[in-house]
Amino acid sequence: MVKMQTALVTGASRGIGRAVARRLARAGMTLFINYLHNEEAARETLSLIEKVGGRGIMLPFDVADSGAVAEAFASIEKQAGRIDVLVNNAGIAHDGLLVRAKDADIAALLDVNLRGTINCCRAAAKYMIRHRRGRIINITSVVAQGGNPGQACYGATKAGVIGLTKSLSLELAPRNICVNAVAPGIIETDMTDPLLTDNGEALLRRIPLGRFGTPDDVAGVVAFLASPDSAYCTGQVFHVNGGIYI
Ligand code: NAP
Repeated sequence: MVKMQTALVTGASRGIGRAVARRLARAGMTLFINYLHNEEAARETLSLIEKVGGRGIMLPFDVADSGAVAEAFASIEKQAGRIDVLVNNAGIAHDGLLVRAKDADIAALLDVNLRGTINCCRAAAKYMIRHRRGRIINITSVVAQGGNPGQACYGATKAGVIGLTKSLSLELAPRNICVNAVAPGIIETDMTDPLLTDNGEALLRRIPLGRFGTPDDVAGVVAFLASPDSAYCTGQVFHVNGGIYI
């Protein structure tokens, strides 16, 4: 089994994406660190990667912009000659009841969480098909299958990511490319900070394992899906949620 050498993690400046980038770097991969605006945080990810002896390259672009995505993949091919692993992690949340949702927020959720994942999958698949190998790992959410009041649009985008994962896994399996999704539960990051500040104790009582997840809990499963150990897994959703949805 040939080892994966080059990975792109979208939204790697913070939270889950940063932990995934560190973990894949520790496994010996060269990491392309995507982010949108937060250059300082992306530099911190880079320095964490370098501390574990890894190699990282910062690559800012908006996943929702298909032209920018195509340019970014061309730049990866120019710099690294290959793209073995894509982790579609970039995402946003705009929580609130659907009846109060603003058009702009609905559009942004669809553009970043769903269209952004589709854009990157399409661009990566073109390169991976040529090389007859690759791994695509899409970050969905427990909300896609379990539902949550206040997250109807967010949940719809994440359910879309599962649908994308399943059909794309069938399109790419004959080319030796595995496509899977990882569905985190409640993970402590900037995204969940307001939620945990307001409702932390009540939420904690609902988690059978009795704690919130950490970005590293998710990164471990992503690293498995990027490793030779998962060579026979495709089209699956891997839950990392402390038992809150089973
Ligand atoms: P986070 O801490 O808010 O970080 C979001 C990351 O996405 C940042 O690196 C951000 O870049 C990047 N990003 C946002 N919009 C982007 C765009 N248009 N183009 C490129 N990058 C963009 O989020 P997180 O909690 O780590 O979540 C990561 C993923 O896991 C998301 O897809 C989220 O939906 C999913 N998830 C999270 C949880 C949870 O409990 N935290 C649970 C289930 C699923 P900047 O730093 O430049 O803004």
